[in-house]
Amino acid sequence: MNNPLLANTPLPLFSQIKPEHVAPAIDQLLAEARSSVEQHLQATQHYTWKNLVEPLENVDDRLNKAWSPVSHMNSVVNSDELRDAYNACLPKLSAYSTEMGQNEALFKAYRFIADSKEFATLDTAQQKIIRNALRDFKLSGIDLDDEKKQRYKDISQELSALASNYEENLLDATNAWSKLIRDADDLAGLPESALAQAQQTAESHNEDGWMITLQFPSYISVMTYADNRELRREHYEAFATRASDQGPHAGQWDNGENMEKILALRHEKARLLGFNNYAELSLAAKMAEKPDDVTHFLEDLADRSWRHARKDLAELREFAQQHYGINDLQSWDMAYFSEKMRQHFYQLSQEEVKTYFPITRVLPGLFAIVEKLYGLQITEIGDFDSWHPDVRFFQIHDQSGQLRGRFYLDLYARAKKRGGAWMDDCVSRKRSDDTIQTPVAYLTCNFTPPTGDTPALLTHDEVTTLFHEFGHGLHHMLTQVDHLGVSGINGVEWDAVELPSQFMENWCWEQEALALMSGHYQTDEKLPDALFDKMIAAKNFQAGMIMVRQLEFSLFDFRIHRDYDPEKGGRIYETLEQVREQVAVVRPPKFNRFAHSFSHIFAGGYGAGYYSYKWAEVLSSDAFSLFEEKGIFDQDTGRAFLTNILEKGGSQDAMELFINFRGRKPTIDALLRHNGIAA
Ligand SMILES: [Zn+2]
Repeated sequence: MNNPLLANTPLPLFSQIKPEHVAPAIDQLLAEARSSVEQHLQATQHYTWKNLVEPLENVDDRLNKAWSPVSHMNSVVNSDELRDAYNACLPKLSAYSTEMGQNEALFKAYRFIADSKEFATLDTAQQKIIRNALRDFKLSGIDLDDEKKQRYKDISQELSALASNYEENLLDATNAWSKLIRDADDLAGLPESALAQAQQTAESHNEDGWMITLQFPSYISVMTYADNRELRREHYEAFATRASDQGPHAGQWDNGENMEKILALRHEKARLLGFNNYAELSLAAKMAEKPDDVTHFLEDLADRSWRHARKDLAELREFAQQHYGINDLQSWDMAYFSEKMRQHFYQLSQEEVKTYFPITRVLPGLFAIVEKLYGLQITEIGDFDSWHPDVRFFQIHDQSGQLRGRFYLDLYARAKKRGGAWMDDCVSRKRSDDTIQTPVAYLTCNFTPPTGDTPALLTHDEVTTLFHEFGHGLHHMLTQVDHLGVSGINGVEWDAVELPSQFMENWCWEQEALALMSGHYQTDEKLPDALFDKMIAAKNFQAGMIMVRQLEFSLFDFRIHRDYDPEKGGRIYETLEQVREQVAVVRPPKFNRFAHSFSHIFAGGYGAGYYSYKWAEVLSSDAFSLFEEKGIFDQDTGRAFLTNILEKGGSQDAMELFINFRGRKPTIDALLRHNGIAA
């Protein structure tokens, strides 16, 4: 069979890839990878970069280049057949990576290179790759004695079973509750789109009327818009008690025990590997160095935002009382009266804003901005192989005429395409002998498609999203690192990876930049000043309350992992109470079981890492503040960001790179200022 996934072409042959190609290609490449690893390990006793690391990076590259289009097409042109083929390969790929992480001969070979005279002659990126590899081997328990190694494996397996049980409970509990509403008056206040959704849900259950559920869009529309206070209370209670010992399904699907076991096993795992607690283990591969760095950072932000958050809440209370006679604002009233208040003070019509952001202005504007900042040229390529006619393809050249990267742009929502927006890598930069493999990225969004003669019109949120993903894309494409393991976004610390993306969002709030990317789709008139002023005013609405809520989540996550004590157990709600005491301004009702559905930290990868969101925001705000000082289109500052951050990928510690760019360590001042929170 002629398998396009094995063709090894510079770009994937999307139009030829069929579900039946997937398993044979991945099977063959995994078999080749395994035998190549063995072969290189056995060929010599004197390991070097050239005879071991480089060939293994090529093996990885081959596998990535075959898997990347499969995984991408599974997300953007899904079908049952493709999904089956994709899912069938996932366990094979994860088995391979576990196997490599636990390959002792491979670990010894890397250690040989690290201890050899050659190590000092390797460049920064190569040394970083070897240090990262040794770190990851250790984190997968490779140098434990046999008994501990077995315990490590048991713990890992049990943890993954517990995480999936946690998710299943949450899913079952979320699906278990619904409420059928027969009288339209009970849903007064809901916008048309939410009503239509509720009606459709009822229909799909063969019922007349409207059905509300615990799916997030349904929940949030009731919380935000439903005038019926008792309905909001009931819905809130069902949502806030999912998978717990409280609420309408108390005791069914209760995650309480799962959480206790997860915390206990994470702690034991960390101790096995020589850390004091799981928070330390989590930081081993992150930019923050020690637990105190994280807690001080979060507490510092909390101290500086608390007063502002109190003021936000007082204003909301006053508004609810003055305009609606509500004297006892409850958790199920917060979103509702906040929305009323937002409409009252900042009547900002997204429909009006949209008319100034046709994609035909936004995209050239985005390109013009990065061209100015980094001295690039972006041009469209007409003829290329693709997975859908909507897709466009672009190339980026630098000032010296060098091709730096290419990207596919897939902007519009359609059936069989996963929601949301993201950047993914298609090809990564690496050098072999004299040839450089230039990076290729996928940029995917789900904007409303154009209709007839009207171009696609973007909300300001969507414009910001496009800038965000483009920032990730530039990080991947502009890298000058020659070695795969740390080129582009590879090897970048988890808590620093959002720096280049959130950084780009800042230009969406600068009038000078908006002038480049806005223009009414009929009259070409720039975004009017009055509208811009309203957008800025609405931007920081309740910023203090939003900030302390994120800090509450982050501190809670970090403390339950840092302070775990096998003698005392998880003390989950006790810790949450203490954190709220310290930073929260809104206190939820006693029955609230927030932790029972906080799957980011219990089932996802964010355990003792939820703080990363705020951490990266601080980095991006602080980096942007240098542009505020020097001018938002200052070329020297742009070039400095390019050479110190974007080009370096994961080849150096993120803190080192940040200091090289900013001339000092990050501070929280710019983030507070950008959120309208005075110091
Ligand atoms: Zn991002």
